[in-house]
Amino acid sequence: MTKFRVGILGATGVVCQRFIQLLEDHPQFEVAALAASDRSQGKSYADACTWRLPGDMPERVKQIVVQAPAPPLDCDFVFSSLPGGVAKDAEEEFARAGYPVISNSSPHRMGADVPLLIPEVNPEHIALIDAQRKNRGYDRGFIVTNPNCSAIVIVMALTPLHMQFGVSSCVVTTMQALSGAGYPGVASLDATDNVIPFIGGEEEKIEAEILKLLGHVNGDVIEDAPMNVSAQCNRVNVTDGHMASIRVKLAQPASLDEIRATLASFMAVPQQLNLQSAPEEPIIVRDEADRPQPRLDRDAGKGMSVTVGRITRDNVLDYRFVALGHNTIRGAAGAAILNAELLVARGYLSK
Ligand code: NAP
Repeated sequence: MTKFRVGILGATGVVCQRFIQLLEDHPQFEVAALAASDRSQGKSYADACTWRLPGDMPERVKQIVVQAPAPPLDCDFVFSSLPGGVAKDAEEEFARAGYPVISNSSPHRMGADVPLLIPEVNPEHIALIDAQRKNRGYDRGFIVTNPNCSAIVIVMALTPLHMQFGVSSCVVTTMQALSGAGYPGVASLDATDNVIPFIGGEEEKIEAEILKLLGHVNGDVIEDAPMNVSAQCNRVNVTDGHMASIRVKLAQPASLDEIRATLASFMAVPQQLNLQSAPEEPIIVRDEADRPQPRLDRDAGKGMSVTVGRITRDNVLDYRFVALGHNTIRGAAGAAILNAELLVARGYLSK
């Protein structure tokens, strides 16, 4: 089988380096085109990009010449990880020109006709693509997004509980890694020996995205989940791995054993379809008193599993627990690649 040829927008950034690493031996996708800012355009990828992940830059991308993030690009579809300010127009331009855009950036996430997709959570939201094409007059192109890097970790943990018992309220406090701010990100003098209780726009994004992610398709729109959500976000001195301390109120009663079993046994569409990047266990429950921890648990399931621990009854809401996921894999590049695998399985991508 010939592989899909993919373009990557924002190619020199920390998320795109993850894309390139995760796609190196992918059986369905191969990197064919790379695009970044005018600082990088016209240079070979090896010259334009300082590789910041463990291991070497893959040989096959080194000589690809970095282009502008505008069509035409010689590829079947694009992954986008452009900064928010440039992503909106660039992604629309690609979709209009007939390219499926699988985006990791925020500007289109809350679009009424744009799927905000996690294959384990809301695969049926793919249906919005048809409405989007109709509304916008796109032919072969469309835009699909994956959520904010903390929202995805939180929603993965909420989903089995919401399906089984209904979550009526959720209060969450995040502890987010430095790599979530891109490179060079937070200044070392701000980050060292410190916690910063502010990440611009993050609390609003998390609160809104959770409701859309857990919402239902009604005709051509998503109806938000009927849930109260409150989020507070902190930047902490950790390289990779976003942690979230979560409290939930349930619509139906559940025992502690039922909560644990529901989380630990969660399986969904990507596991049933055996998608290439789907972790065997989407949620790993740890019973040790001091887990999850970023250094020990962020790479679980090759960075695609969410680890949940500290499950206990809560005196204010019903239960509390801690969830952790890798922000540039499950929270970004891995999430978008899993979305692309689902889109192939559902016939939305063609060569
Ligand atoms: P980053 O490391 O700062 O990389 C930004 C990339 O965008 C670079 O390739 C840069 O190219 C390019 N770029 C910057 N300005 C541009 C312009 N005006 N025109 C075209 N290209 C431009 O950022 P990142 O962390 O990879 O994040 C990228 C996107 O993913 C953001 O929207 C972010 O919100 C989202 N995201 C990040 C994470 C995470 O954990 N880091 C998680 C989820 C989503 P040059 O090198 O040529 O300047």
